[in-house]
Amino acid sequence: MNQGKVILVGAGPGAPDLITLRGVDALRRADVVLYDRLTHPDLLDHVRPDAERVYSGRAPGSPGDDRQEHIHDLMVRHARAGRIVVRLKGGDPFVFGRGGEEMLALAEAGVAFEVVPGVTSSISAPGAAGIPVTHRGISAAFAVFAAHEADDAMGPAVDWHVAARIPTAVFLMGVERLATIVAKLTAHGRRIDTPVAVIERGTLDEQRVTIGTLGTILVRARGARPPATIVVGEVVSVRESILALQSGAPAWQVAAALAPRHVPSARTKLG
Ligand code: SAH
Repeated sequence: MNQGKVILVGAGPGAPDLITLRGVDALRRADVVLYDRLTHPDLLDHVRPDAERVYSGRAPGSPGDDRQEHIHDLMVRHARAGRIVVRLKGGDPFVFGRGGEEMLALAEAGVAFEVVPGVTSSISAPGAAGIPVTHRGISAAFAVFAAHEADDAMGPAVDWHVAARIPTAVFLMGVERLATIVAKLTAHGRRIDTPVAVIERGTLDEQRVTIGTLGTILVRARGARPPATIVVGEVVSVRESILALQSGAPAWQVAAALAPRHVPSARTKLG
C-alpha cells in the first residue's frame, strides 16, 4: 500500500504570514492537519477544503502525556493509511514543542517524516519588539528556558545558576511565574537593575511590550497574560535606545544610556 508521511511544520510565532513558504506548501498538500493551540486560525485557509482538520492542543497546565500518545497514534495511523499528515506547531517544532518526541515516535513506527522549521517566538517576539537577543558589546550569548520550577512533561526545571549568568535569558511559558523568575534570578546574583521585557502576543496586531527591571517588572507587568515571552538582560535597553533616537534624543546621550556598565567608553567615542 502507498505509504503516507508526516510533515512537522513550524507555524511561526503568531502572525499568519510568518510561516515559511515550505510550510504553506505542506499545508496545501495535506490530507490531514493536526494543529496546536498557538497556531493562527488563518493558517488553516491554506488547507484543502476536503482535508481533515484535527485540533490537538491542550489547555495549559493540563496533563499532556495521554494526549501526546494519542497524537502519535493519530499521526501513525493516518500516515499508514497513505495520507500526508501535517503536524502544525507554534513557533519552531523543536523549541519546547515536543517535536523531538514526535520524530522518535514516527521513526519507531517506521513512518516517513519531514521537518519544516519555523520562526521561534523565543527569538522573534523579542526581535519584533526591537530587542536583539545578541548585540555586539552587550550580549554574545542567549539561552531559552521554560519557566518551570520543577521537572515536568516539558522538561527539567530551570538551572537558575545558568539563567542568572547568561547575558540574555529568554523565558517561555513564564508570565504566570514572573514572581518566581525575579526571585530566583536575584537570589542567584542577577542585579536588581537588570532590564526586563515582557512581550505579550508578539508579532500579532495586539502585541504589547512592557519594560522594566528585575526590581520593577512585577508591578509594571501586572495583568500580563500568555502567550508572552520574557527577556532578561541588557539587550532590552537597545529597544529603549531606538525609541529615544526615534523621538529625537541626541546619539551620544543614547549611547551613554545603552548599557553604560558594559560600554563605559561609548560616550567619549561618540563625542
Ligand atoms: N515552539 C514554540 C514555543 C512553544 S512554548 C516556539 O518556538 O515559539 C509556548 C510559549 O511560547 C508561550 O508560553 C510563550 O512563552 C511563547 N510564545 C508563543 N507565541 C508567542 C507570541 N506570539 N508572543 C510571545 N510569546 C509567545
